[in-house]
Amino acid sequence: MTPLAFARAADAAEAIRHGAAARTKYLGGGTNLVDLMRETVERPSTVVDVTNLSRDITERDGGLVIGGAVRNTAVAEHPLVRTRYPMLSRAILAGASAQIRNMATVAGNILQRTRCAYFYDNEGSRCNKRSPGEGCDALEGFNRMHAILGASPSCVATHPSDMCVALAALDATVTVQNADGNRTIPLEGFHQLPGERPDIETVLKPGDLITAISIPALPFATNSTYRKVRDRASYAFALVSVAGAIEVDDGTVKNVRLALGGVAAKPWRAHKAEAALRGQPATLQSFRAAAEAELSAAVPLQHNAFKIELAARTIAAVLGELSGATE
Ligand code: SF4
Repeated sequence: MTPLAFARAADAAEAIRHGAAARTKYLGGGTNLVDLMRETVERPSTVVDVTNLSRDITERDGGLVIGGAVRNTAVAEHPLVRTRYPMLSRAILAGASAQIRNMATVAGNILQRTRCAYFYDNEGSRCNKRSPGEGCDALEGFNRMHAILGASPSCVATHPSDMCVALAALDATVTVQNADGNRTIPLEGFHQLPGERPDIETVLKPGDLITAISIPALPFATNSTYRKVRDRASYAFALVSVAGAIEVDDGTVKNVRLALGGVAAKPWRAHKAEAALRGQPATLQSFRAAAEAELSAAVPLQHNAFKIELAARTIAAVLGELSGATE
């Protein structure tokens, strides 16, 4: 067993003081970090419990500010999340189990790591994310769950969060605090594609603490949803997921938001599909064409080519459901 120190932070300043030390990890609900420590993928020397930090959900300028320590269940059940951003409520409820959602925090959800099986197999598999330069056993291995967009020869892992897919579609921002003060990072730019350094997963610096996420006002997001396609009905990660919102005016797409999960190392905002749809007829043909535009850059691995068609169908189905289009 590797010994470690444990501290419980009373506020953000105390957490950041601890976090400045090397090999310190912040502990939210522990629903991923503890697994990683058990598998010896993570070996912190100090763990700082930050669950006493902000648990508030407050309105601001027609949007919401959600504290980093708010539990996932509290976000999903909040009346303003359910009415203004149903895609976010549904995305969270599609993730994990009720017990895990009751423990998991917003900040921890954003920072959860891939569930690539080779990444967790610290004894027997090569993994560039765990040990840079070692190689990637997923490339020639069982890669059915892996990425079709934005991957690299170094890593083809996917990001596992459902919540982050909705946050990317909603233009959410992440507030980060360190000893120098606060800064705000768009959720879409928070996670990084693997390139040659898949071990660098976010733009966070050592000691940075996520204190809140902010979701701007988006009136048409009342007409939004999240659809997750997976191997079984619950407690499974997405093969493909889609967060979508659409506003249709006189049969024409006026506004649309789309993001995909299960396809890349980050929540994948579907900008090409959005651009292809604005001003077009709100028909299933338009939705399908937009999906194909987005997926034109997809590169399948040996076992996951099905994801391209699955993603295209799911995008069209979600937009069809939200718009009422039948042809
Ligand atoms: Fe590691 Fe990424 Fe390869 Fe999985 S896909 S084994 S996380 S390098």
